Amino acid sequence: MSLPWLRESWRQVVSDYQQQRFGHAHCIPAREGLGAEAYTQALAHYLLCLQPTQRACGRCKSCLLVQSETHPDYYVLRSEDNRAIGVDKIRELTQALQQTASQHGAKVAWIKNAERMTTEAANALLKTLEEPTANTYIILSPERTSALLPTIRSRMRLHTLNEPSWPEIEAWLVQQLGRSLTPEEQLRSQQFLGAPLHALAALKGEVSDNIDYVGRLAQACCVDSKWPLPTKSDWAGWLDASEAWLHELIRIKQRVAQQRLRFPGSYQLAVDWLQREQITVAEINAWLALCYNLRKTTSEQAGLNVPLLLQQQWLQWKHKP
Ligand SMILES: [Zn+2]
Repeated sequence: MSLPWLRESWRQVVSDYQQQRFGHAHCIPAREGLGAEAYTQALAHYLLCLQPTQRACGRCKSCLLVQSETHPDYYVLRSEDNRAIGVDKIRELTQALQQTASQHGAKVAWIKNAERMTTEAANALLKTLEEPTANTYIILSPERTSALLPTIRSRMRLHTLNEPSWPEIEAWLVQQLGRSLTPEEQLRSQQFLGAPLHALAALKGEVSDNIDYVGRLAQACCVDSKWPLPTKSDWAGWLDASEAWLHELIRIKQRVAQQRLRFPGSYQLAVDWLQREQITVAEINAWLALCYNLRKTTSEQAGLNVPLLLQQQWLQWKHKP
Protein backbone atom coordinates (compact mmCIF):
# COMPACT_ATOMS: atom_id res chain seq x y z
CA MET A 1 0.00 0.00 0.00
CA SER A 2 1.39 3.38 -0.94
CA LEU A 3 1.48 5.90 1.93
CA PRO A 4 2.22 9.25 0.23
CA TRP A 5 2.56 11.28 3.46
CA LEU A 6 5.61 9.21 4.43
CA ARG A 7 7.40 9.63 1.10
CA GLU A 8 9.38 12.71 2.09
CA SER A 9 10.69 11.08 5.29
CA TRP A 10 11.63 8.02 3.28
CA ARG A 11 13.50 10.06 0.68
CA GLN A 12 15.46 11.72 3.48
CA VAL A 13 16.36 8.40 5.08
CA VAL A 14 17.54 6.92 1.77
CA SER A 15 19.56 10.00 0.96
CA ASP A 16 21.25 9.98 4.39
CA TYR A 17 22.00 6.29 4.04
CA GLN A 18 23.50 6.72 0.58
CA GLN A 19 25.68 9.55 1.83
CA GLN A 20 26.71 7.48 4.84
CA ARG A 21 25.09 9.93 7.21
CA PHE A 22 22.66 7.43 8.63
CA GLY A 23 23.50 6.70 12.27
CA HIS A 24 23.11 3.34 13.91
CA ALA A 25 20.48 4.16 16.58
CA HIS A 26 16.99 5.27 15.62
CA CYS A 27 13.74 5.96 17.37
CA ILE A 28 10.62 5.70 15.21
CA PRO A 29 7.57 6.13 17.45
CA ALA A 30 4.79 3.60 16.90
CA ARG A 31 1.82 5.29 15.24
CA GLU A 32 -0.57 2.56 14.30
CA GLY A 33 -2.97 4.46 12.10
CA LEU A 34 -0.26 6.50 10.43
CA GLY A 35 1.65 3.57 8.91
CA ALA A 36 4.72 3.79 11.15
CA GLU A 37 4.89 0.00 11.44
CA ALA A 38 4.99 -0.53 7.68
CA TYR A 39 7.50 2.30 7.36
CA THR A 40 9.84 0.89 10.01
CA GLN A 41 9.60 -2.58 8.55
CA ALA A 42 10.49 -1.24 5.11
CA LEU A 43 13.47 0.55 6.65
CA ALA A 44 14.71 -2.61 8.39
CA HIS A 45 14.45 -4.53 5.10
CA TYR A 46 16.23 -1.72 3.28
CA LEU A 47 19.15 -1.78 5.74
CA LEU A 48 19.48 -5.56 5.41
CA CYS A 49 19.31 -5.61 1.59
CA LEU A 50 22.65 -6.34 -0.09
CA GLN A 51 21.94 -4.14 -3.13
CA PRO A 52 19.42 -1.47 -2.13
CA THR A 53 18.53 1.39 -4.43
CA GLN A 54 15.53 3.46 -3.37
CA ARG A 55 14.19 0.50 -1.40
CA ALA A 56 15.09 -3.11 -0.62
CA CYS A 57 15.61 -4.95 -3.93
CA GLY A 58 13.45 -7.93 -2.99
CA ARG A 59 15.69 -10.32 -4.95
CA CYS A 60 19.05 -10.61 -3.19
CA LYS A 61 19.79 -13.44 -0.79
CA SER A 62 19.22 -11.18 2.19
CA CYS A 63 15.83 -10.01 0.92
CA LEU A 64 14.75 -13.60 0.27
CA LEU A 65 15.71 -14.55 3.83
CA VAL A 66 13.71 -11.60 5.14
CA GLN A 67 10.71 -12.68 3.09
CA SER A 68 10.88 -16.21 4.47
CA GLU A 69 11.31 -14.75 7.98
CA THR A 70 14.56 -16.64 8.49
CA HIS A 71 17.13 -13.85 8.25
CA PRO A 72 19.77 -14.69 10.90
CA ASP A 73 20.88 -11.05 11.36
CA TYR A 74 17.41 -9.56 11.79
CA TYR A 75 16.10 -9.41 15.35
CA VAL A 76 12.59 -8.27 16.24
CA LEU A 77 11.79 -7.92 19.93
CA ARG A 78 8.45 -6.97 21.42
CA SER A 79 6.58 -6.99 24.69
CA GLU A 80 4.38 -10.04 25.00
CA ASP A 81 0.94 -9.71 26.60
CA ASN A 82 1.77 -6.14 27.61
CA ARG A 83 4.51 -7.38 29.90
CA ALA A 84 7.90 -5.77 30.45
CA ILE A 85 10.84 -6.48 28.18
CA GLY A 86 13.33 -7.90 30.65
CA VAL A 87 17.08 -7.62 30.87
CA ASP A 88 17.63 -11.23 29.78
CA LYS A 89 16.09 -10.60 26.39
CA ILE A 90 18.14 -7.46 25.86
CA ARG A 91 21.38 -9.17 26.93
CA GLU A 92 20.65 -12.00 24.51
CA LEU A 93 20.13 -9.43 21.79
CA THR A 94 23.24 -7.37 22.50
CA GLN A 95 25.38 -10.50 22.57
CA ALA A 96 24.01 -11.57 19.21
CA LEU A 97 24.71 -8.11 17.80
CA GLN A 98 28.36 -8.44 18.74
CA GLN A 99 28.78 -11.43 16.44
CA THR A 100 29.81 -11.04 12.82
CA ALA A 101 26.85 -10.81 10.50
CA SER A 102 26.31 -14.22 8.95
CA GLN A 103 25.08 -12.76 5.66
CA HIS A 104 27.98 -10.30 5.28
CA GLY A 105 25.50 -7.46 5.35
CA ALA A 106 24.08 -5.40 8.20
CA LYS A 107 22.58 -6.54 11.47
CA VAL A 108 19.27 -4.97 12.39
CA ALA A 109 17.44 -5.05 15.70
CA TRP A 110 13.93 -3.65 15.95
CA ILE A 111 12.53 -3.28 19.47
CA LYS A 112 8.80 -2.70 19.49
CA ASN A 113 6.97 -1.35 22.60
CA ALA A 114 10.44 -0.13 23.57
CA GLU A 115 9.13 1.89 26.53
CA ARG A 116 8.34 -1.41 28.20
CA MET A 117 11.98 -2.27 28.72
CA THR A 118 12.76 -2.43 32.43
CA THR A 119 15.35 0.06 33.67
CA GLU A 120 17.86 -2.77 33.88
CA ALA A 121 17.08 -3.80 30.29
CA ALA A 122 17.40 -0.21 29.06
CA ASN A 123 20.75 0.13 30.78
CA ALA A 124 21.94 -3.09 29.18
CA LEU A 125 20.98 -1.69 25.79
CA LEU A 126 22.65 1.62 26.52
CA LYS A 127 26.11 0.10 26.33
CA THR A 128 25.45 -1.19 22.82
CA LEU A 129 24.07 2.20 21.79
CA GLU A 130 27.26 3.83 23.05
CA GLU A 131 29.67 1.37 21.46
CA PRO A 132 27.96 -0.16 18.45
CA THR A 133 29.61 -2.86 16.40
CA ALA A 134 30.13 -2.06 12.74
CA ASN A 135 27.19 -2.15 10.37
CA THR A 136 24.66 -2.61 13.16
CA TYR A 137 21.38 -0.75 13.34
CA ILE A 138 19.06 -0.54 16.32
CA ILE A 139 15.55 0.78 15.88
CA LEU A 140 13.30 1.48 18.85
CA SER A 141 9.55 1.90 18.35
CA PRO A 142 8.03 3.15 21.60
CA GLU A 143 4.37 4.00 21.94
CA ARG A 144 5.43 7.02 23.97
CA THR A 145 8.90 8.35 23.32
CA SER A 146 8.78 10.36 26.55
CA ALA A 147 8.62 7.10 28.51
CA LEU A 148 12.10 6.08 27.34
CA LEU A 149 15.03 6.79 29.63
CA PRO A 150 16.55 10.18 28.71
CA THR A 151 19.97 8.51 28.38
CA ILE A 152 18.51 6.21 25.71
CA ARG A 153 16.61 9.00 23.95
CA SER A 154 19.65 11.23 23.69
CA ARG A 155 21.65 8.56 21.86
CA MET A 156 19.15 8.03 19.06
CA ARG A 157 17.98 9.91 16.06
CA LEU A 158 14.30 10.68 16.54
CA HIS A 159 12.23 10.29 13.38
CA THR A 160 9.08 12.38 13.29
CA LEU A 161 6.70 11.11 10.67
CA ASN A 162 4.64 13.64 8.79
CA GLU A 163 0.89 13.72 9.48
CA PRO A 164 -1.18 14.32 6.36
CA SER A 165 -3.72 17.14 6.21
CA TRP A 166 -7.39 16.31 5.69
CA PRO A 167 -7.30 17.04 1.90
CA GLU A 168 -4.33 14.68 1.58
CA ILE A 169 -6.12 11.98 3.55
CA GLU A 170 -9.27 12.39 1.49
CA ALA A 171 -7.36 12.14 -1.79
CA TRP A 172 -5.66 8.98 -0.54
CA LEU A 173 -8.93 7.41 0.63
CA VAL A 174 -10.54 8.13 -2.74
CA GLN A 175 -7.61 6.48 -4.46
CA GLN A 176 -7.71 3.43 -2.19
CA LEU A 177 -11.47 2.95 -2.52
CA GLY A 178 -11.63 3.84 -6.20
CA ARG A 179 -14.60 6.17 -5.61
CA SER A 180 -15.41 9.47 -3.96
CA LEU A 181 -16.68 9.79 -0.38
CA THR A 182 -20.24 10.67 0.55
CA PRO A 183 -20.66 13.74 2.82
CA GLU A 184 -21.45 11.40 5.70
CA GLU A 185 -18.28 9.38 5.06
CA GLN A 186 -16.25 12.58 4.89
CA LEU A 187 -17.50 13.61 8.30
CA ARG A 188 -16.82 10.19 9.76
CA SER A 189 -13.34 10.01 8.26
CA GLN A 190 -12.38 13.39 9.66
CA GLN A 191 -12.39 11.76 13.09
CA PHE A 192 -9.24 9.95 12.03
CA LEU A 193 -6.88 12.85 11.47
CA GLY A 194 -3.42 11.50 12.14
CA ALA A 195 -4.60 7.96 11.50
CA PRO A 196 -5.53 7.54 7.81
CA LEU A 197 -5.19 3.76 7.99
CA HIS A 198 -7.91 3.69 10.63
CA ALA A 199 -10.10 5.88 8.43
CA LEU A 200 -9.71 3.42 5.56
CA ALA A 201 -10.45 0.45 7.82
CA ALA A 202 -13.60 2.16 9.10
CA LEU A 203 -14.80 2.95 5.56
CA LYS A 204 -14.26 -0.67 4.58
CA GLY A 205 -16.34 -1.75 7.55
CA GLU A 206 -13.33 -3.12 9.42
CA VAL A 207 -14.13 -0.88 12.36
CA SER A 208 -11.18 0.37 14.30
CA ASP A 209 -11.58 -0.70 17.89
CA ASN A 210 -9.73 2.27 19.20
CA ILE A 211 -12.18 4.80 17.83
CA ASP A 212 -15.18 2.87 19.04
CA TYR A 213 -13.64 2.71 22.50
CA VAL A 214 -13.08 6.45 22.57
CA GLY A 215 -16.66 7.11 21.47
CA ARG A 216 -17.98 4.97 24.30
CA LEU A 217 -15.70 6.56 26.86
CA ALA A 218 -16.78 10.02 25.70
CA GLN A 219 -20.42 9.07 26.12
CA ALA A 220 -19.87 7.65 29.61
CA CYS A 221 -17.62 10.50 30.69
CA CYS A 222 -19.80 13.38 29.46
CA VAL A 223 -23.32 11.98 29.38
CA ASP A 224 -24.56 8.93 31.22
CA SER A 225 -21.77 7.44 33.41
CA LYS A 226 -22.44 4.06 31.81
CA TRP A 227 -18.81 2.97 31.99
CA PRO A 228 -17.69 0.03 29.90
CA LEU A 229 -16.73 -3.28 31.47
CA PRO A 230 -13.20 -4.01 30.33
CA THR A 231 -12.10 -7.63 30.25
CA LYS A 232 -8.79 -9.45 30.47
CA SER A 233 -8.57 -9.53 26.71
CA ASP A 234 -9.50 -5.94 25.83
CA TRP A 235 -8.24 -3.77 28.68
CA ALA A 236 -5.20 -2.67 26.68
CA GLY A 237 -7.55 -1.15 24.08
CA TRP A 238 -9.45 0.66 26.85
CA LEU A 239 -6.24 1.98 28.32
CA ASP A 240 -5.14 3.28 24.90
CA ALA A 241 -8.54 4.87 24.44
CA SER A 242 -8.43 6.45 27.91
CA GLU A 243 -5.15 8.15 27.08
CA ALA A 244 -6.39 9.18 23.64
CA TRP A 245 -9.53 10.71 25.17
CA LEU A 246 -7.66 12.62 27.88
CA HIS A 247 -5.23 13.98 25.28
CA GLU A 248 -8.21 15.10 23.24
CA LEU A 249 -9.70 16.90 26.27
CA ILE A 250 -6.40 18.74 26.74
CA ARG A 251 -6.41 19.77 23.07
CA ILE A 252 -9.93 21.11 23.49
CA LYS A 253 -8.98 22.99 26.66
CA GLN A 254 -6.06 24.49 24.76
CA ARG A 255 -8.46 25.58 22.01
CA VAL A 256 -6.75 23.61 19.28
CA ALA A 257 -8.55 24.22 15.97
CA GLN A 258 -11.44 21.82 15.53
CA GLN A 259 -10.05 20.34 12.32
CA ARG A 260 -6.92 19.31 14.23
CA LEU A 261 -8.91 17.31 16.78
CA ARG A 262 -8.85 13.53 16.56
CA PHE A 263 -12.43 12.89 17.62
CA PRO A 264 -14.49 15.84 16.36
CA GLY A 265 -17.63 13.71 16.66
CA SER A 266 -17.38 14.02 20.45
CA TYR A 267 -16.30 17.67 20.45
CA GLN A 268 -19.56 19.25 21.59
CA LEU A 269 -20.12 16.67 24.31
CA ALA A 270 -16.63 17.36 25.62
CA VAL A 271 -16.95 21.15 25.51
CA ASP A 272 -20.25 21.11 27.41
CA TRP A 273 -18.93 18.71 30.00
CA LEU A 274 -15.64 20.54 30.56
CA GLN A 275 -17.59 23.75 31.06
CA ARG A 276 -20.25 22.26 33.30
CA GLU A 277 -17.81 20.45 35.58
CA GLN A 278 -15.19 23.19 35.34
CA ILE A 279 -12.45 20.69 34.66
CA THR A 280 -8.93 22.10 34.61
CA VAL A 281 -5.96 21.02 32.50
CA ALA A 282 -4.12 20.15 35.73
CA GLU A 283 -6.86 17.68 36.62
CA ILE A 284 -6.77 16.07 33.17
CA ASN A 285 -2.99 15.80 33.43
CA ALA A 286 -3.35 14.11 36.82
CA TRP A 287 -5.72 11.55 35.28
CA LEU A 288 -3.28 11.00 32.45
CA ALA A 289 -0.49 10.40 34.95
CA LEU A 290 -2.66 7.68 36.51
CA CYS A 291 -3.03 6.05 33.09
CA TYR A 292 0.73 6.16 32.48
CA ASN A 293 1.33 4.77 35.89
CA LEU A 294 -1.13 1.94 35.34
CA ARG A 295 0.57 1.12 32.04
CA LYS A 296 3.94 1.02 33.75
CA THR A 297 2.72 -1.10 36.66
CA THR A 298 1.06 -3.64 34.37
CA SER A 299 4.25 -4.06 32.39
CA GLU A 300 6.22 -4.70 35.57
CA GLN A 301 3.83 -6.78 37.68
CA ALA A 302 1.87 -9.84 36.79
CA GLY A 303 -1.49 -10.77 38.26
CA LEU A 304 -3.02 -7.29 38.58
CA ASN A 305 -6.75 -6.87 38.08
CA VAL A 306 -6.29 -4.22 35.41
CA PRO A 307 -9.96 -4.05 34.31
CA LEU A 308 -10.94 -3.14 37.86
CA LEU A 309 -8.12 -0.61 38.24
CA LEU A 310 -9.18 1.02 34.97
CA GLN A 311 -12.77 1.32 36.13
CA GLN A 312 -11.61 2.93 39.37
CA GLN A 313 -9.70 5.50 37.34
CA TRP A 314 -12.70 6.33 35.20
CA LEU A 315 -14.84 6.96 38.28
CA GLN A 316 -12.35 9.61 39.35
CA TRP A 317 -12.88 11.51 36.13
CA LYS A 318 -16.30 12.50 37.43
CA HIS A 319 -15.42 13.33 41.00
CA LYS A 320 -13.50 16.47 41.61
CA PRO A 321 -11.52 16.58 44.84
ZN1 LIG B 1 17.87 -7.07 -1.53
